[in-house]
Amino acid sequence: MPITTNNLKVETKDFDKAQIDEVINALHAGLSDNFETVSVSHVNCPDLTQEPFSLAKEGICGRPCLVDIGGVPNLVPLVKRDVYYDLSHLSNWLDMKEGLAIGAGAGPWKYVGVNSELIANFAFGSGTIEKSMSYIAKLDPETEKPIVETLPPGENNCAVLLNLLCSEGKPGKVIKVECKNRKGGLNFVSCMRNAMWKRFPCKFLGLGGVFVIKKGKAKLHIMPDFSEKPLNSDEEVASWLKFVEASSPLTCLSVFVTSDAEMDLRVEHTHCFSKHGEGGHYHYDTTPEEVVYEGYFVMAETVYRVNRPSDEAHFYCAF
Ligand SMILES: [Zn+2]
Repeated sequence: MPITTNNLKVETKDFDKAQIDEVINALHAGLSDNFETVSVSHVNCPDLTQEPFSLAKEGICGRPCLVDIGGVPNLVPLVKRDVYYDLSHLSNWLDMKEGLAIGAGAGPWKYVGVNSELIANFAFGSGTIEKSMSYIAKLDPETEKPIVETLPPGENNCAVLLNLLCSEGKPGKVIKVECKNRKGGLNFVSCMRNAMWKRFPCKFLGLGGVFVIKKGKAKLHIMPDFSEKPLNSDEEVASWLKFVEASSPLTCLSVFVTSDAEMDLRVEHTHCFSKHGEGGHYHYDTTPEEVVYEGYFVMAETVYRVNRPSDEAHFYCAF
């Protein structure tokens, strides 16, 4: 049966709590191992509808939560085309009347025509999507040229997998992170995730937010159309993906957790867009000597695991 209705299994788990000053200290310590200049502070959320953030609602506060929908087993070794999600059900899954959803997933191939990266950024209401500012990044099937474009109003679907930070979209206190000049080998998100895991090894914690790569360039990938040949290893996935180098400023929508909590959670996922026609799945910056990051994050209270695949991915895939 095609999975297109609200009739999906939704598992929930509350994240542990941690003192905000300890979180800030942990992030500062971890990021300082990887970047020359680091600042982490607890601030009032700026108006994130403004450029370069351009989110569909003003803030990322008010019942912040992560939503992990579907998963990699829906994409490899071969795509499950009947796994297709109508995101206007989000308010029902979360029991949240209205809010903001931002994150990373697979675009609606029935509309796009081919597989694509979804850079999700939309305001939702009860059983509806009120304002969509989402992008997709795809490859032109003939020229393989990357194309990044917005989704039209009313196109509310995604395919196979999606990782979101949701909230009521309100202003409030957030964690501001600024980093310059990378000296270590970790990307910005993995570095924060490692820092949290090291400081809180026994806690289950999740964060999400938006950051901008203000200077430098970044390595991204864009999924081509679904592979007709089974993808059975990381090597086969890597040779299938199309890698590109994109220029700043890049606005990145990101979630990460300290463990998969035996719920097959994806531990981190970040997609980015720009006003200059570049976007995709973030891997790392390629200009460590000049890169500048500025981001705003919240600690999620709960994770919602929607339609967890029954089979596990047997190798690590970074889609
Ligand atoms: Zn991705």
